[in-house]
Amino acid sequence: MQLADRVQSLTPSSTLAITAKAKALKAEGHDVIGLGAGEPDFNTPSYIIEAAKRAMDEGLTKYTPAGGIPELKNSITTKLKRDQSLTYTNEQIIVTTGAKHALFTLFQVLLNEGDEVIVPAPYWVSYPEQIKLAGGKPVILPAQESNDFKITPGQLKEVITPKTKAVIINSPSNPTGMMYSEDELRALGQVCLENDILVVSDEIYEKLIYTEESHVSIAQLSEDLYNQTVIINGVSKSHSMTGWRIGFAAGNKQIIKAMSNMASHSTSNPTSIAQYAALAAYTGSEEKVIEMRDAFKDRLEALYQWLIEIPGVECVKPSGAFYLFPNVKKAAEEGGFEDVDSWVKALLDEEKVALVPGSGFGSPENVRLSYATSLDQLEKAADRIKRFVNNHQ
Ligand code: PLP
Repeated sequence: MQLADRVQSLTPSSTLAITAKAKALKAEGHDVIGLGAGEPDFNTPSYIIEAAKRAMDEGLTKYTPAGGIPELKNSITTKLKRDQSLTYTNEQIIVTTGAKHALFTLFQVLLNEGDEVIVPAPYWVSYPEQIKLAGGKPVILPAQESNDFKITPGQLKEVITPKTKAVIINSPSNPTGMMYSEDELRALGQVCLENDILVVSDEIYEKLIYTEESHVSIAQLSEDLYNQTVIINGVSKSHSMTGWRIGFAAGNKQIIKAMSNMASHSTSNPTSIAQYAALAAYTGSEEKVIEMRDAFKDRLEALYQWLIEIPGVECVKPSGAFYLFPNVKKAAEEGGFEDVDSWVKALLDEEKVALVPGSGFGSPENVRLSYATSLDQLEKAADRIKRFVNNHQ
């Protein structure tokens, strides 16, 4: 059977091979430490779980409007007002099956064949693939590690063509954890306005910030930028709800309407029960969200310190998310490895520590470590990485 061209060009997930190998080693009885996870290790807070149970008991188990229940949309507009001082109506909100599907649907309604979307690298693995699936062309724009993995307005200008439709801003970022300041966003926003480019602002890590700086959405910076931005967010990372699959998009009415039409013919509504759970998440106290953030902060401080003490490992200190993205090129070279991918494979073979190679994120000199695991495990992992590097000098 000849499959469609669009799937032939899909790049398999870079995390899959290493995760499969880590699982196989675990099944053989090895003590594997997995730092590949892209999700918080905490349980979903109990008040959210209770809300889902209540929804089931009350029979709220049927189809809902494709774009989400009005109560949840209301809670999202209230959240956007409270956290970002942004005013949206329910017509400007779509609830989706995770933030991932918000992005997928957005590219589907936005892109014609050959339209370009600028994707700053290092990037989250799904952006280029989703753009390609919509017939678009991802234009990868490498950010400099020396500039904390942030693109500059000059770099952005250089890659804009008449076919550029949008740029993705993911702050705080997966995989680097870096965050743009308000001034940096303003300058990038200016370039987007001058060139009539839509900003896709992926704010999924908004609640996981460990510096004094607070989160700024590019849509907050002017009315023009508000009109020119689609915000993507959701409860997966903020409320440890990755499995519930609830995200949202907020933006221009016409775009949101098209997305809702698209959803009505693909997913229909996101799971009704999960929507009631997300409603509890957005209307409840943020105490648990803050507790989880504080735990991540402690882990970041510890793991960062342990990592930078390892010879040949250099690391920009992230501001948010739950990843570190050290450059291990020197360690790999000094250890005689062909590239960082082989270094990662050998680390798993010899020390049973699973990291994700940066090549899948468009940054082949780096590796991604997730600190969504206990401090004990993180310390053990750092010791093993250190021993591995020492053994290969
Ligand atoms: N955007 C980024 C940058 C992510 O890292 C992820 C998940 O890993 C998502 C979007 C998707 O989130 P969700 O689980 O809500 O689909």
